[in-house]
Amino acid sequence: MAVPKRKTSKQRKRKRRTHYKLEVPGMVACPNCGEYRKSHHICPSCGFYDGEDVMNQSES
Ligand SMILES: [Zn+2]
Repeated sequence: MAVPKRKTSKQRKRKRRTHYKLEVPGMVACPNCGEYRKSHHICPSCGFYDGEDVMNQSES
Protein backbone atom coordinates (compact mmCIF):
# COMPACT_ATOMS: atom_id res chain seq x y z
CA MET A 1 0.00 0.00 0.00
CA ALA A 2 1.29 3.45 -0.88
CA VAL A 3 1.99 5.55 2.18
CA PRO A 4 2.73 9.33 2.27
CA LYS A 5 6.43 9.95 2.73
CA ARG A 6 5.92 13.08 4.78
CA LYS A 7 3.41 14.04 7.40
CA THR A 8 0.99 16.69 6.16
CA SER A 9 1.75 19.71 8.36
CA LYS A 10 -0.95 21.79 10.04
CA GLN A 11 -0.06 24.65 7.72
CA ARG A 12 -0.29 22.56 4.60
CA LYS A 13 -3.56 20.97 5.70
CA ARG A 14 -5.08 24.34 6.57
CA LYS A 15 -3.93 25.94 3.34
CA ARG A 16 -5.51 23.10 1.37
CA ARG A 17 -8.77 23.61 3.23
CA THR A 18 -8.96 27.32 2.39
CA HIS A 19 -10.55 26.18 -0.87
CA TYR A 20 -13.40 24.50 0.97
CA LYS A 21 -16.41 26.78 0.94
CA LEU A 22 -19.26 26.68 3.39
CA GLU A 23 -21.92 28.32 1.28
CA VAL A 24 -23.54 26.90 -1.79
CA PRO A 25 -22.70 29.17 -4.75
CA GLY A 26 -25.35 30.71 -6.95
CA MET A 27 -27.36 32.29 -4.16
CA VAL A 28 -28.59 35.82 -4.83
CA ALA A 29 -30.77 38.22 -2.85
CA CYS A 30 -34.33 38.45 -4.15
CA PRO A 31 -34.98 41.93 -5.56
CA ASN A 32 -38.56 41.80 -4.24
CA CYS A 33 -38.20 40.65 -0.64
CA GLY A 34 -34.40 40.49 -0.10
CA GLU A 35 -34.46 36.83 0.85
CA TYR A 36 -31.70 34.64 -0.54
CA ARG A 37 -32.76 32.41 -3.38
CA LYS A 38 -31.06 30.30 -6.03
CA SER A 39 -30.18 32.25 -9.15
CA HIS A 40 -32.63 31.66 -12.03
CA HIS A 41 -35.10 30.12 -9.62
CA ILE A 42 -38.41 31.34 -8.22
CA CYS A 43 -38.03 32.97 -4.82
CA PRO A 44 -39.24 30.45 -2.21
CA SER A 45 -40.19 33.28 0.13
CA CYS A 46 -42.40 35.51 -2.04
CA GLY A 47 -42.83 33.48 -5.25
CA PHE A 48 -41.51 36.20 -7.52
CA TYR A 49 -39.43 35.62 -10.61
CA ASP A 50 -38.15 38.40 -12.90
CA GLY A 51 -40.41 40.99 -11.25
CA GLU A 52 -43.54 38.86 -11.61
CA ASP A 53 -45.52 36.97 -9.01
CA VAL A 54 -45.46 33.65 -10.86
CA MET A 55 -46.98 31.70 -7.95
CA ASN A 56 -50.35 33.46 -7.95
CA GLN A 57 -51.13 33.28 -11.66
CA SER A 58 -53.82 31.12 -13.21
CA GLU A 59 -52.59 28.03 -15.05
CA SER A 60 -51.83 28.03 -18.80
ZN1 LIG B 1 -38.57 37.12 -2.79
